[in-house]
Amino acid sequence: MINDLELFNELVEYLISEEKNNPVATVISTDALYDKIDLELKNEPAIDTDFKNALKSIIKSTPKTASTSFYNQLFGGRIDRAVLGDLLAVMLNNSMYTYKVAGPQVGIEKIILKRVCDMIGYPKIADGTFAPGGSMSNYMAVLMARDRYNPKVRDEGVSHKMTLYTSEASHYSIAKNASFVGVGRDQVRAIKTNDKGEMLAKDLENQITKDLELGCQPFFVNATAGTTVLGAFDNVEQISKVCKKHKIWLHLDGAYCGSVIFSNQYKHLVNGIEHTDSFSINAHKMLGTPLSCSILVAKDKKHLYQSFSNDAEYLYQTDDDAFNLGKTSLQCGRRNDALKLWTLWKSVGTNGLEKIVDHMFDLAEIARDYIKNHPDYTLYSFDDSISVCFNYKTIPANVLCTALYQHSKLMVGFGNFRDQKFVRMVTVNTLLQIEDIINFFDTIEKFVATADL
Ligand SMILES: *Cc1c(COP(=O)(O)O)cnc(C)c1O
Repeated sequence: MINDLELFNELVEYLISEEKNNPVATVISTDALYDKIDLELKNEPAIDTDFKNALKSIIKSTPKTASTSFYNQLFGGRIDRAVLGDLLAVMLNNSMYTYKVAGPQVGIEKIILKRVCDMIGYPKIADGTFAPGGSMSNYMAVLMARDRYNPKVRDEGVSHKMTLYTSEASHYSIAKNASFVGVGRDQVRAIKTNDKGEMLAKDLENQITKDLELGCQPFFVNATAGTTVLGAFDNVEQISKVCKKHKIWLHLDGAYCGSVIFSNQYKHLVNGIEHTDSFSINAHKMLGTPLSCSILVAKDKKHLYQSFSNDAEYLYQTDDDAFNLGKTSLQCGRRNDALKLWTLWKSVGTNGLEKIVDHMFDLAEIARDYIKNHPDYTLYSFDDSISVCFNYKTIPANVLCTALYQHSKLMVGFGNFRDQKFVRMVTVNTLLQIEDIINFFDTIEKFVATADL
């Protein structure tokens, strides 16, 4: 047998060289996948060389999200200190439900949550948890809001029309979650946005009033810090006034850009955040940790207990509830997602996290400037966003993005706002430099000059 740690090192070195030399892997079509790579599971064990070769060919063909050619989604890059923490979490293999089983790892999770609560001006009774992603953080927020509105729902189920509100530019998880919590997708009201994709507080107020007149029960408003396509920030201050007036739970979905709380220059984008009832951040997006690292905090921790704790004698046998994190989480067994953020935060400091965030805005600025200075491009996005949306010449965005991918040039996606379709480049990989951004546009221009689109 090859020593696994030696093999691991060899494979990682191979990955890193592939990332440099073939940053966009040759695409294998789905119908050829099982022929091209040895994925077969057999009764007999694989011999060492076959095992290693299979892993190498899998690595070769897997999209390289840490490469300088990856702009496709809202994550990317690889920050070593965060990776170190995640590798350790795998080796330690704790489950976060009790202090008995996770020990100081519980303290690691709690201190991160405490710092985030303090930073956003939540009171001492605030607390939070790590969820398996931003969609699940939003799900937990809707559940807490539902149970605060009517605690009986937990036992009796939903028997009345409960309505929730989110902007038309918000993440699709809100509609899915409306179905999961039993109120139904039809009860989601899509609130209009202004031209920048920010929710209109006036339209929110009108919708709520209309629903109240119809006898519905408005119970949840979702605002977004960094909408998925344009990267827009809803006006939390204005929206919170509407929520306060009608006593509705306000959640701020900061999965994409909630990490602006770490930046003195950009935290004004979430002004009013202290008026929310819950808030979520994906550290695997703007803070650059490996997937997934999603934080949910609630202004009053009693709502976490009210919605997520179940007594279980076989599990909770020692220590007080505050250190038995299973009482406030969606799952039972739960992966340690906190350590990777802690190793990063500990090593670079809060000031280092600020630099990570600020650099992304700097890169976006450079990209927008480039577009503004080159007449072949049309810009669709606004300042203070790390999503840079544009079109090149008259090439349809989907055609351009797919061709770039199939010719192994760049990984970048497209999106739309209202009736406009465009390329959406995200500068969420903080390890990128100015020349990488310029190179991105250069690659497109050279490719289009020779390709037949
Ligand atoms: C990415 C994103 C989510 C979902 O987060 P996952 O971790 O992918 O589940 C939710 N809301 C917004 C605004 C996002 O950008």
